[in-house]
Amino acid sequence: MTNKNIVILGSTGSIGTQTLEVCENLGISAVALTANKNIELLEQQIRKYRPKKAVVFDKKRAKSLKENVSDTSTKILCGMDGLCEAACMTCADIVMTAVSGMVGLRPTLEAIKSKKNIALANKESLVAGGELVMQAARDNHVDILPVDSEHSAIFQCLNCGSKYLNKLILTASGGPLFGMKKSDLKAVTVKEALNHPNWNMGAKISIDSATMMNKGLEIIEACHLFNLPESKVDAIIHRESVIHSMVEYVDGSVIAQMGVPTMKTPIQYALTYPSREKLPGNHLNLADIKNLSFFEIDSNTFEAVTLCRDAIRAGGSAPLVINSANEVAVDLFLNNKIKFSEIIELIKTAFNKFKPQNIEFLEQILEIDSLVRDFLYGLF
Ligand code: NDP
Ligand code: MG
Repeated sequence: MTNKNIVILGSTGSIGTQTLEVCENLGISAVALTANKNIELLEQQIRKYRPKKAVVFDKKRAKSLKENVSDTSTKILCGMDGLCEAACMTCADIVMTAVSGMVGLRPTLEAIKSKKNIALANKESLVAGGELVMQAARDNHVDILPVDSEHSAIFQCLNCGSKYLNKLILTASGGPLFGMKKSDLKAVTVKEALNHPNWNMGAKISIDSATMMNKGLEIIEACHLFNLPESKVDAIIHRESVIHSMVEYVDGSVIAQMGVPTMKTPIQYALTYPSREKLPGNHLNLADIKNLSFFEIDSNTFEAVTLCRDAIRAGGSAPLVINSANEVAVDLFLNNKIKFSEIIELIKTAFNKFKPQNIEFLEQILEIDSLVRDFLYGLF
């Protein structure tokens, strides 16, 4: 594959760096790269990939980077305006949204309005503004190609058609705290919570995996991507992360997508869809793995999935409130301001306080998001 241009929002992160490797292998050119603060890595990426534009969200650091790369032809931008400008570049064919958190919502919407196809890793944007994003995609006839491994798996399984679909079954690894009871959660440290058994990911999504909020957010993400009610999206623990998700048809047939646990597969499929390309690396050897295990989610200990289902059913701004509250709670936990077990309590507090409102505009989303943030940070 050649002559395709990509913008990578969040190129310095776990998904972003893997996307660059996949693109290098496919011959896709990165025309814009973005970071929040990590200007050292962004500089290396600029020197290696020579993008036309690079964005640093943090304004001060953008200034430093501008001086450091003044010998290159890459234009340095900053802030939300910079992210939006990069997301709309005329020469781009596809935008990979791989920032962490709902800061990705505006650039995603701008990219869709500029008729760019979206490879979507940034699930928080969809949880916060799913209706708006999916409507904009329909209006502008652009594809939203899922990168989250479960949603990529479903997308691949649905290639045989969704007409006779009965339900989706998302798999969950169970994260680093699988098997713990509610009383164990108080003492969980940041290090323990970050220690995911199967995936090496950014800090925010790693904590989301430990609380199982990640699965809750993914159920919401799946409802938007595949236009289904929450009752049609099951989730099951599958410890080995070999089955990335499944679909069940009305006759009881279940189709699963399997592979070694690497995000490069879903990243690459989003970039090459509808074709497939060779991907260097190990392939699945089921004889080596021997057993695949499955368990129900322990919703007594891990309440996040139930809470997210409640939020979808409540509708309107409820998923947004859950997402904003979770972003704050994870930040407080990572900064040792609250205990692990308080993450879910803070989210429940916000969910009960902010009653669902109908969402029609991006400005409403941004306003409710800042109300939730001010309220929760104000408690500390
Ligand atoms: P990382 O934390 O590794 O990377 C996040 C990226 O976003 C970095 O480039 C970071 O810049 C940038 N960023 C963070 N905050 C801001 C901000 N306020 N403004 C602008 N840029 C920002 O995250 P991951 O790569 O793990 O995850 C990215 C997204 O993909 C998330 O939405 C996550 O849920 C989703 N995802 C990730 C998976 C994974 O395996 N990692 C799997 C499935 C989904 P800097 O480096 O400067 O901080
Ligand atoms: Mg996932």
